[in-house]
Amino acid sequence: MAIVTGGSRGIGRAVAAQLAADGYNIAFCYHSGGDAAAETEKLVREHGVEVYHAPCDVSDFDAVQEFVSKATKELGPVYALVNSAGIVRDNPMVLMPVEDWRAVIDTNLSGTFHFCRTVAFNFMKQKEGVIVNMSSIAGVYGNPTQTNYSASKAGIQGMSAALAKEVASYGIRVNAVAPGFIETDMTEALPEKIRASALKSIPMKRYGGAAEVADLVSFLVSDKAAYITGEVIQIDGGVAL
Ligand code: NAP
Repeated sequence: MAIVTGGSRGIGRAVAAQLAADGYNIAFCYHSGGDAAAETEKLVREHGVEVYHAPCDVSDFDAVQEFVSKATKELGPVYALVNSAGIVRDNPMVLMPVEDWRAVIDTNLSGTFHFCRTVAFNFMKQKEGVIVNMSSIAGVYGNPTQTNYSASKAGIQGMSAALAKEVASYGIRVNAVAPGFIETDMTEALPEKIRASALKSIPMKRYGGAAEVADLVSFLVSDKAAYITGEVIQIDGGVAL
């Protein structure tokens, strides 16, 4: 079974659908969910696998433990964990409310820790398991107006590398994916001026698709990536060049 956080929309939804196509039963969570979660469920079921989903605020450790426990009861042991739940609360640092700093760190960084912390011990007992954590190129290079988001994503990279070292000898792999500008609700919400300037900075002259990120996650989860751990893999149309 594979768990995907933030599976109701965007990259998480595409990952849930792709891992279902790869044959995994899927458990996914979200904050509010609604019709979007029902749409992901439909996409997953098209691949003939089992699905469990529920709201679970990733920033709440007790809720995360309860979600994993229920998902395991429904679908059996967890083999793969993909942490995709994330939010932005943009502002220049001098204007950033402390609550917005905390909300982004609590959701993106602590949320990822909560899920890793909850599955890691069972992965060690199983002597197998794969974790893919969603970072961002903002965590590699920093983005102005995103000190909170960039810090959360850089934190995810450090945490993933440290955990990869802790658990490698148990047959567990941990990697991070750092997407550039991907077409989802998160980037749709940006002002047109910022979208246009982002496009200019991309050598491939287009935004990425959520399905393209999902293909990378699928590869990292698969045995084709059996000797890859502790990496941060960028998928950004060449922004870094
Ligand atoms: P999105 O379309 O806004 O979807 C975010 C997902 O996260 C939704 O399913 C949302 O659930 C869920 N979520 C938010 N807060 C949550 C919480 N506290 N507990 C549980 N679930 C929560 O975002 P996206 O663009 O797919 O981004 C997915 C991940 O990729 C994020 O970590 C993001 O930082 C990262 N990323 C995105 C881009 C990009 O260009 N889009 C680039 C780099 C990295 P609800 O719908 O219920 O709120």
